[in-house]
Amino acid sequence: MATPSNPIDEAVIVVMRSDSTRADVEHVAERLRDIGAEAHVSPGKHRTVVGAIGDRAAITQLPFEAFPGVERAVPVVSSFKFVSRDFQADDTIVDVGGVKVGGGNLAVIAGPCAVENRDQLFASAEAAKQGGANILRGDAFKPRTSPYSFQGLGEKGLELLTEARETFGMPFIAEVVDPRDVELVASYADLIRVGTRNMANFTLLSELGKQPKPVLLKRGFTATIEEWLNAAAEYIYKEGNHDVIMCERGIRTFETATRNTLDIAAVPVVKRLSHLPIVVDPSHSGGRRELVAPLTRAAIAVGADGFMIDVHADPETALVDGAQAIVPREFLELMETVRKLADVLGVTY
Ligand code: PEP
Ligand code: MN
Repeated sequence: MATPSNPIDEAVIVVMRSDSTRADVEHVAERLRDIGAEAHVSPGKHRTVVGAIGDRAAITQLPFEAFPGVERAVPVVSSFKFVSRDFQADDTIVDVGGVKVGGGNLAVIAGPCAVENRDQLFASAEAAKQGGANILRGDAFKPRTSPYSFQGLGEKGLELLTEARETFGMPFIAEVVDPRDVELVASYADLIRVGTRNMANFTLLSELGKQPKPVLLKRGFTATIEEWLNAAAEYIYKEGNHDVIMCERGIRTFETATRNTLDIAAVPVVKRLSHLPIVVDPSHSGGRRELVAPLTRAAIAVGADGFMIDVHADPETALVDGAQAIVPREFLELMETVRKLADVLGVTY
C-alpha cells in the first residue's frame, strides 16, 4: 500500500491589482519560473492575470498575496489530491471481504444499527441475507448524543458479528470511535466505519490509514463535500490505505421534517470530483422508516455505488434508532424494487 508518488499539478489564477506595474507582473512570473512552474500572463484592459501551472507542493508554498501588486490568488484545482479524478481517472473498486464496491458494483449493506444481543442480531442478519444484502451492518461501539444512552456491547458485539458472518456468509461493517480501538475493530471487521461525528477526527483517520481494512467514511453533518474529500484524502489515503468508500448520510440544515437533509446531489458531485465509490445511508438521513424506500430508490437512480440500511426485526424494542429501522418484510419488498432498478441502470448486483 504505497502512497502514490506522481507529482500533482496545481493551477492558480493570480489576479493583479489594477494599479500594479509591469515589474510586479514580471516578479510573479519570475518567482514561478524559479520553482519550475509555468506562468501565462494575460494582460487585460484594466487588469492583468497570471495563470500559474506547476507542481502543487512547490506552487502552494508561494505566498502570492504577499507579492507587490497582487490582489488575490485563486486555486483552480481542488485542494484534495490523491482521491481526485485528476489523479486517477478510473473508478476505485474496493474489495470488502470478497464483495466488490464501486465501478458499477452495488453494495447492499443492511442490518441493525447496534448489536444488542445474539437473537436480535441474527434475526436482522437473516433478513439482510434473505433480501440479498451483500454486507452486514451492526455496531459494537455506539457513540450517542447522550452519554447515558446504550453505548454498545464492545468486543462481545464484534464476536457476535463474526459469528453472524460465518453463519450467513456476509462480510460485516462496524464503526470505530476511538483511535485506541482501531486495531481491535480491524481484527474483526471487514469494513470499518467512521461515523459522522468523527469525520474530522484526524487522529482516528490517520490510524485507519495505517491499517489494512477498507474504510467507509461518513460525511460530517456540517461538512462540505470538499472538507469530506480532504478528510478521506489527506488523512486515510495519504497514510497508504487506498480502500476508502464515501457515505452520504445527510447534513444539518434548517429543515426539521427529516432528521438530516439527504444531499442527493453529493453523489454525482463526488463521482465527478473523485474516483472513490460513494454509497448513501437513507436511514440516518431521513430518520424515519417511511422515508427509507424512497430515498434508497433515489440513491440508486442518481448513481450511488450502494446503500446502507438499518433493519430490525422488532424496532419497537430497539435500543438505538428504532424509528428509522425497517422490518424484514419491508426490506424484502424494497429489494425487489432495487433489483429492477439495478437492471434498468445496468448496475451489477
Ligand atoms: C450509524 O450508521 O449507525 C451512525 C451512527 O451513523 P452516523 O454516524 O451517520 O450518524
Ligand atoms: Mn443508528
